[in-house]
Amino acid sequence: MLLCDFHIHTKYSDGSVELRRTIDLFGQAGFDVITITDHVVNGDSSIGKIAHRFGLSVKADNFDGYISNIRHEAQRAWDKYGMLVIPGVEITKNYVSSDKSAHILIIDIKEFIPACWSYEKIFLEAKQQDALIIACHPHHMSDMSRSTLYLWNNRDKYARYIDAWEVANRDDVFNVISLKKYPYIANSDFHRTRHLYSWKTLLNCEKNTGSVKQCIRHNKGVAITLFRS
Ligand code: ZN
Ligand code: ZN
Repeated sequence: MLLCDFHIHTKYSDGSVELRRTIDLFGQAGFDVITITDHVVNGDSSIGKIAHRFGLSVKADNFDGYISNIRHEAQRAWDKYGMLVIPGVEITKNYVSSDKSAHILIIDIKEFIPACWSYEKIFLEAKQQDALIIACHPHHMSDMSRSTLYLWNNRDKYARYIDAWEVANRDDVFNVISLKKYPYIANSDFHRTRHLYSWKTLLNCEKNTGSVKQCIRHNKGVAITLFRS
């Protein structure tokens, strides 16, 4: 099965490791498929504005450079490690209240999607781009300050748009996802080197972007594993 991590941050947002070094870390650790998913933060809240002020968000004006740098590194990763690297973002809707906040991975994104758009507009645009939509850390986390509950609280309305939910994120496991029988994956939410050792996804499919997206959407041949040194 393919060892995968679909939730990885770099210095393009609030990660502590440069993109190139991140690729080498995962390549040397034997990963088959990764997605780079730096934050695209909403600018319509006080804490969203702070992220923008400190340069912790990919923005419309550096998005194309971000994607082309990932594609350049993806070629190098394929040649050097046989590792597939897919461009993505984490749409980050941060508000003071956890109940209002939500984070969404858009995997295989092609065009910039602003985080201040409505959920419907974001989901429809992502579908238009044939990107995967993943609900991140959707329930209470061990670090309560990071909890993002909006999509879970409004799952009756939004579940039909979501290709998969994170059943595990770094050290946290969200049993509600399995109880609801939602499609699932597990990711590191990598921000620093030690986050390499965390929950991951195993996929039983071919190593190309189309097969990976299909495998997650159908959610057959998907397993999770705790990757340790
Ligand atoms: Zn997040
Ligand atoms: Zn994240």
